Amino acid sequence: MNPTPERDRQRGMLLGLAVGDALGAAVEFRAPGSFEPVTGYRGGGPHPIRPGDWTDDTSMALALADSLAEAGWDLNDQARRYCEWMREGRYSVNGRCFDIGGTVSRGLHRFEQTGDAHASGPTDESASGNGSIMRLAPVPMRYATWFPTRVADLARKAEESSLPTHGSAQCRSACRYLGVLLAALAAGRPREEVLSPEWPVLGAIGPLHPRVEAVARGSFREQQPPAIRGTGYVVDCLEAALWAFYDAADFREAVLRAVNLGDDADTTGAVCGQLAGAHWGESGIPQEWRTGLGRPEMLELALSVEQIP
Ligand code: MG
Ligand code: MG
Repeated sequence: MNPTPERDRQRGMLLGLAVGDALGAAVEFRAPGSFEPVTGYRGGGPHPIRPGDWTDDTSMALALADSLAEAGWDLNDQARRYCEWMREGRYSVNGRCFDIGGTVSRGLHRFEQTGDAHASGPTDESASGNGSIMRLAPVPMRYATWFPTRVADLARKAEESSLPTHGSAQCRSACRYLGVLLAALAAGRPREEVLSPEWPVLGAIGPLHPRVEAVARGSFREQQPPAIRGTGYVVDCLEAALWAFYDAADFREAVLRAVNLGDDADTTGAVCGQLAGAHWGESGIPQEWRTGLGRPEMLELALSVEQIP
């Protein structure tokens, strides 16, 4: 049975995340232009993995999806599952936690001490990494039907999902914006409409941190690399993913543009993959990338996340 177009795009969000992560993993931390351009899955990289294997970005998304399915909306449960990944390698492609960001680690260690995921993520602006936008897809999947009637509620859920590990204003704003953008794309809204500086929905998502607002208002159209950079900073990452996505011809072109920026390539790929997957759907992801992903049964389980009407 073919999924409905909406379902195809929702599945595309999470599968796109994993595909972008897996494509970028082999060139993570490499300087732009210093590697043979990525055209498909490769093994190796800083965490030596097999072609098609995905990293922390997808592991955290799977933990979040599992939490939503089993516990509903419970931030402490989300954080507990991230800790199970960090400590025991649950949700990992190879049973080990082999790639973890500094801000994620700080937040989860604090959660283990306090038990309060609402306040465990660092709030200082210097801790504005991309670790909460990289895993976001399960939130707009779960609350897909809240677009367009409950945009403010949807934005709040996306923002809250950042708190266990990333409490800074920039990270929270980036999650608000990306969460609603993904839900809009999955609902079939045209790319030109949702990426317009005048998108009327922006008013209901905000107020946003000025740097995130500048991205939402189109900064990604006005620049090219090296000004566009795929770093681990949340605003750079969001801007780079949108730069790669906004005028790409198809999923393949968008995600390859993102990962070939190098630096935090797997995470730029994961964020761009969510956007591209929400727009072109699972059916728009090249077949060999869908079937070549590591541990497909783990992804399939996470894709069963039920929607809240
Ligand atoms: Mg990673
Ligand atoms: Mg990364």
